[in-house]
Amino acid sequence: MRVLVVEDNNRLGRLIASGLQRRGYACDVALCLREAETAMYGATYDAIILDLGLPDGDGKEWLIARRKSRDMPPAIMLTARGGLEDRVTGLDAGADDYMVKPVEIEELAARLRALFRRPGPRTPTTIEAGRLQLDVASRTARIGETEMDFSRRESDLLELLMRRAGTVVHREVIENALYSYREPVTPNAVEAAVSRLRRKLEDAGLTGALHTIRGIGYMLRDNGT
Ligand code: CA
Repeated sequence: MRVLVVEDNNRLGRLIASGLQRRGYACDVALCLREAETAMYGATYDAIILDLGLPDGDGKEWLIARRKSRDMPPAIMLTARGGLEDRVTGLDAGADDYMVKPVEIEELAARLRALFRRPGPRTPTTIEAGRLQLDVASRTARIGETEMDFSRRESDLLELLMRRAGTVVHREVIENALYSYREPVTPNAVEAAVSRLRRKLEDAGLTGALHTIRGIGYMLRDNGT
């Protein structure tokens, strides 16, 4: 199960994420709606924990807009406001559940479990491309019997390439997916990250699978054997 926490209070976001990770969820944090959009482009989530007041917009308006235009996983809204009116408008906006801050991780986990008991498709935490298997929750991958551990960034990069295996992923897409807009990104950061990933894959026996498409981006294609 994979959860996206959209919360501009960095400390609270990290706290929720680590609490959920300890309970076996794969968890990412977005500090604003723009980061949430980027995260959702690069990965598929089973649930969104959504703060209402965000620096680049209103969580409720965003949820309404996203629900109208495309698939959206179930959402639990977080808010400092607990009035009846807020709860009702939150649920009307398409939230599946509602929690008033301060958030107790134990309760949030219980509400997620309740959400996941409802029928609906689930996203497995393991994805596959060719001979490569990646567990996005533990950030470990395997090729046959060989296991690899990845940092968060390496795992995000590999996941993005695996989900689009066989197609070219543009450099800017990778940059947006790996780095938040507040982070200074050096011109060759993506290239360096891809090189590190390629070396790890080759060390594990997967050679020639991560292709550089000069001037455009990168592509993962494992021709097998
Ligand atoms: Ca907020």
